[in-house]
Amino acid sequence: VAALSAVEPPRCLDGLPLRVGDRVVWSVAASCGRCATCRRGLEQKCQYLRKYGHEALADDWRLSGGFATHCVLQPGTAVVRVPESVPDEAVVSASCATATVAAVLSAAGDPAGTELLVTGAGMLGVTASAMAAQAGAAVTVCDPDPWRRELARRFGAARTLAPDEPTGRADIALELSGSPSAVGTCLAAVGLGGRVVLAGSVSASDPVPMDPQRLVRNLITVTGVHNYRPRDLAAGVAFLTRHHGTYPFAELVGGWFGLGQLDAALAAAAAGPAPRQAVRPAAEALPPRAAGEPPRPGGRRPGGRRP
Ligand SMILES: [Zn+2]
Repeated sequence: VAALSAVEPPRCLDGLPLRVGDRVVWSVAASCGRCATCRRGLEQKCQYLRKYGHEALADDWRLSGGFATHCVLQPGTAVVRVPESVPDEAVVSASCATATVAAVLSAAGDPAGTELLVTGAGMLGVTASAMAAQAGAAVTVCDPDPWRRELARRFGAARTLAPDEPTGRADIALELSGSPSAVGTCLAAVGLGGRVVLAGSVSASDPVPMDPQRLVRNLITVTGVHNYRPRDLAAGVAFLTRHHGTYPFAELVGGWFGLGQLDAALAAAAAGPAPRQAVRPAAEALPPRAAGEPPRPGGRRPGGRRP
């Protein structure tokens, strides 16, 4: 936190006031809290929702994204303080993947003791694997990429599958890839009382066939999740604080780039296989970590933080 509004001093989700110098993450979107949608309890889909990193440059909100030295937070943004013990690499995804997965698991119901299928082993999928395994589920992760399947095993998956392999029966299925065929896999995998949560399908795709009788007779619930509530961000940060050392979250970030190297960062993101590349506005680029190299602690990398 570099500066605070004197008019309306902002508070963290825990109710305590923000202070200059605090190390924080904030929700991907700001909600008005007053519109009919917010009043229905769907503040993540507020009629006046403004999303960080998703908005065109506007005169009343120029600093709204991550490719800048500073970001101006809007009223209605959930802010969570991050303990110094959690490295940057482990927490950078908190307000995207981790909070989204917390929302997905909240929609899925208690995973303890369930057979839980995850389709897609990207950032969301491996995070879901870790959070569900930690909550007591037996997790199976399905992904076409062998490197990602191996990654999922390191994030708590008991079993991994290629898409052409049989899934077996699941109590809960989480679709986090966006692939229409994976949606079909999830619908077919759950049995009696099954719950399917779809969160990967965020762009237009072909329709997916559905057998209504199978859903009805088996009391199957299908739910969509998009964006998340403030409590999901708090749950995500709490999970990373407790378990950033249990699962190799820091390894999901392939490299770090300064603002002068955005083209290289985007090229590295497109080249894969690391699920994310990071931009540190005040840093010069660091090469991708070699396999087995330990994570670099946040803000204390060789040469120190640049002004
Ligand atoms: Zn609203």
